[in-house]
Amino acid sequence: MTGLRGEGRSHVPVTWVGTSWKMTKTLAEARRYARRLADAWGDGTAMPGVQPFVIPSATAIAAVRSELGSSPVLVGAQDAHWEDAGAWTGEVSVPQVADAGAVMVEIGHSERREHFGETDERVNAKVLATLRHGLRPLVCVGETAAVRDEGGADAHVVRQVEAALRGVDDPSGVLVAYEPVWAIGSRGRPAGPEDIVGVVAAIRASAPGVAGVLYGGSVAQGNAAELLAVPGVDGVFVGRAAWSVEGLVEIAYLAGRSRQVPSP
Ligand code: PEP
Repeated sequence: MTGLRGEGRSHVPVTWVGTSWKMTKTLAEARRYARRLADAWGDGTAMPGVQPFVIPSATAIAAVRSELGSSPVLVGAQDAHWEDAGAWTGEVSVPQVADAGAVMVEIGHSERREHFGETDERVNAKVLATLRHGLRPLVCVGETAAVRDEGGADAHVVRQVEAALRGVDDPSGVLVAYEPVWAIGSRGRPAGPEDIVGVVAAIRASAPGVAGVLYGGSVAQGNAAELLAVPGVDGVFVGRAAWSVEGLVEIAYLAGRSRQVPSP
């Protein structure tokens, strides 16, 4: 896929390492993080093949983009509406987050599915809107503990992926983040490679053309390398462990070290 905003280079496989800050950080904290990250990451030549990204609250997208300056770190939005504009109080649209400097949109995080009624249909509409405006969708999928216990993880996640990609002619701009609900957050149980390898393979088989499959859910400095080594995993999507610059950079370094060029 060509023409995604902020990505003029020819397509080379990268290892993605990014974080969503969820509903944290004041503007001052967001600016400080972005400045320190830009300094720490530099032009990225020390870590070839690793693509970092940060996803702040909508209020901080423009400030973070501005503080990052010419840094290759990408900025995303945590959500965006499927319509371009209109009477949708409280929402932000894809053109609006793009205007603020976002080049990615996180869609369908389990917290939005659970607490805000995000359905597969809405996820799909948001994916289509994001692609229409040349931004990269980061589609979050994952099963609950109950679904996994019943043996339905693969089928559930594949259904979510297929629904998200309905009507997408060219999925090569889309990232999928596999985030088992039971592994997310401070009460989550960190997954091991054996827990995720089958679901990642199922995602790959159902959506072979996507730009990458990331793993998320209690990723931290201590387990990032083993999760990145799982076949089919192209990066990690990190919450709490990357809310400090040191956390994100450390995990990005681990990714750089454990990076294996994916087979064609
Ligand atoms: C998340 O919520 O998507 C996430 C990965 O969070 P954490 O790393 O904190 O579990």
